[in-house]
Amino acid sequence: MKVLELTAPSEFAISEKPKPSPLAGEVLIKVACCGICGSDVHGMDNSSGRRIPPMIMGHEASGVIEELGQGVEGWNVDDRVSFDSMVYCGQCGHCEKGETNLCEERQVMGVSCDEFKRDGAFAEWVIVPAHILESIPEGLSFEEAAFTEPLAVALHAVNIVKAQPGERALVVGTGLIGLLVVQALKRVGCSEIVAVDMDQKRLDLAMELGATASFLGTEDCGAEFDIAMEVVGAAPTLEKAVKAVRKGGRVGLVGNVVAEVPLALQWIVTREISLLGSCAAAGECTDALNAIASGEIQVKPLISAIAPLEEGADYFQRSRDGKEGLLKILLKP
Ligand SMILES: [Zn+2]
Ligand SMILES: [Zn+2]
Repeated sequence: MKVLELTAPSEFAISEKPKPSPLAGEVLIKVACCGICGSDVHGMDNSSGRRIPPMIMGHEASGVIEELGQGVEGWNVDDRVSFDSMVYCGQCGHCEKGETNLCEERQVMGVSCDEFKRDGAFAEWVIVPAHILESIPEGLSFEEAAFTEPLAVALHAVNIVKAQPGERALVVGTGLIGLLVVQALKRVGCSEIVAVDMDQKRLDLAMELGATASFLGTEDCGAEFDIAMEVVGAAPTLEKAVKAVRKGGRVGLVGNVVAEVPLALQWIVTREISLLGSCAAAGECTDALNAIASGEIQVKPLISAIAPLEEGADYFQRSRDGKEGLLKILLKP
């Protein structure tokens, strides 16, 4: 089968690999399309230690079940599916509490690190454990269904901060996930959703998708927010989020571009601000698909390009350069 392989740090090739066979509990999916994630773009140079080459990335995919492994129940050949990125054990303490994203044995599709390696979906076929499959609602395109995982990440972040109807929210960073967070906050019923970014085009899109006001990063975005969502993961943006919430406010931490940042400790302690880390998703995939299918969340405006697998290397490089402001790139094998 044809795959887009990361052969060395930041180097790609279209390679020929044997078509895989599903083991017990797994299914073989014929991939329809797979999105390039920011974590793929940041990780392709091996700086994150999560994309150790040679490997096949891709964890935001949709397709059709072609073959069932032994013991797989509840799924059929030809079912249209997408899947969560997180492969969990289902038995550890975290899994028992429903915190599948914190599983002690967790693995991630399309990730290659010291502990494990799992081929992803930048390929004609991909093997997926049946327990992370999601059924695509009727009428929903494969392109839209490829947003299952990134939208689940945004929904999880909004769930973690327990956003309530009528609350005032700030979103710092309106990249792909930030734009989904804006919509997720709107869906919850937040009365104000203020977007902050360095890119005016993204702010314009945030306004189209539900933000009530927008500011460039250098501008004063206001204060006394109930919630601030930090969707960048750097020192200045974290400070902006922390300083913008009211006493007793909550800051949702989604971005993590850098590993460590200085913290306004006294400000946080004396104002009882809660910092709430959010990692991946824990069961939000079904909700994500339903939200797209119902039209509550729009993903089509977030698609910058749909391209064949052969153009993947080029799109990875252009995403890395960042000059074009690309949002989601979907690759089709
Ligand atoms: Zn992702
Ligand atoms: Zn577990």
